[in-house]
Amino acid sequence: MTASSTLQRVAVFGATGSIGASALDVIARHPQRLRVAVLAAGSQVEALLDLCQRHRPRHAVIAREDLFPALRDGLRERGLETEAHAGMAALDALAAGDACDTVVAAIVGAAGLSSTLSAARAGKRLLLANKESLVLAGELMTRAADAAGADIIPIDSEHNAIFQCLRSRQAKGDVRRIVLTASGGPFRGRRRTELADVTPAQAVAHPKWSMGPKISVDSATLMNKGLELIEAHHLFGLSGDRLGVLVHPQSLVHSLVEFVDGSTLAQLGLPDMRTALAVGLGWPDRIDSGVAGLDLLTQGRLDFEAPDMDAFPCLRLACGALDAGGTAPAILNAANEVAVSAFLQGKIRFLSIPALVEEALAALPAAPADSLEALLEADARARRITETTIAGHAARA
Ligand code: NAD
Ligand code: MG
Repeated sequence: MTASSTLQRVAVFGATGSIGASALDVIARHPQRLRVAVLAAGSQVEALLDLCQRHRPRHAVIAREDLFPALRDGLRERGLETEAHAGMAALDALAAGDACDTVVAAIVGAAGLSSTLSAARAGKRLLLANKESLVLAGELMTRAADAAGADIIPIDSEHNAIFQCLRSRQAKGDVRRIVLTASGGPFRGRRRTELADVTPAQAVAHPKWSMGPKISVDSATLMNKGLELIEAHHLFGLSGDRLGVLVHPQSLVHSLVEFVDGSTLAQLGLPDMRTALAVGLGWPDRIDSGVAGLDLLTQGRLDFEAPDMDAFPCLRLACGALDAGGTAPAILNAANEVAVSAFLQGKIRFLSIPALVEEALAALPAAPADSLEALLEADARARRITETTIAGHAARA
């Protein structure tokens, strides 16, 4: 049987988010081949109910357990047969269970780790947008996927580009290096001193991509590119010295792979995540994504520049964590999540984000990351330290 003649049942975790919406858009274009089987969200019950009405999944999950009655009653009131669930354990069980073949892992942050790992262990096709889970536990994740025969298809434009160039998740000996492109975010070209007073609204106004608030702030600090270097290391099995970053403000070249013979392959396209999702949903076939082709004559030019590590220290901190290994990436990621959340709530300033991450890394030296428990413990300690420091700042202010 060809891949296109089987119906793929898809679970979309983080369905109410930006990636979730793009995934559902692509799925709806292919009713003969793709079906929404499970929809899950964190706390937005009404938005989840609307999606259930539209896509008619077998199961719907709300992560916040206290919202279960609202989901169950809402489904009933709308006359839907979708079964209601709540809590992280339900997410894990549905990720691993018989209801789906493919999981779109698009929960934001370390909150996505458990369900993503559960899908990998169950051998599902894993469309992995939740980069924080790879940063936190990349080795465990790829080992679990390999052991269970789970295909991981990266849903990050850069890693998806590399995956397309390699036609695989394994960079073999013929790859010299991989270069991730970065838009540079909304503050590209500014000096460090010019970043002191930027607001959350300015930080989330990304010039090229429309994304959720957390990754938008990460793009503004360049932590996103740092997380992506760690992500690339785990996905493609390359050490940090064979991974580079190039700022490319047009966001049309999504990343480059350089081979030992001097060839460089790149993937180009408009900045729209539906392309990456269509690659993941259709692989190895190519299917319509709704994204127009690229007209380079209209686009005019492609520019490239080096990243400014001084203005954007998060990139340097992430490179350091990648080199240090062990629990360092987990600490970096956890401190960053807490700091970004505080920044979005107006509790800290933009430049406090790298300062807090640096403090957490200094306070918690990297230890071996030989178990999930060790990683979760490092994550929890980094969150506590960062929260305490933020509370101290607030008390002094
Ligand atoms: P978003 O904020 O738009 O959506 C996040 C989703 O996660 C929502 O559906 C929300 O309900 C759900 N969620 C949040 N906390 C949860 C919890 N505790 N339990 C269960 N569900 C929870 O974010 P996004 O921009 O769609 O990004 C999602 C992931 O994809 C992130 O890891 C991000 O880094 C990655 N990613 C996004 C893009 C993009 O273009 N948006 C590109 C590359 C990678
Ligand atoms: Mg990306």
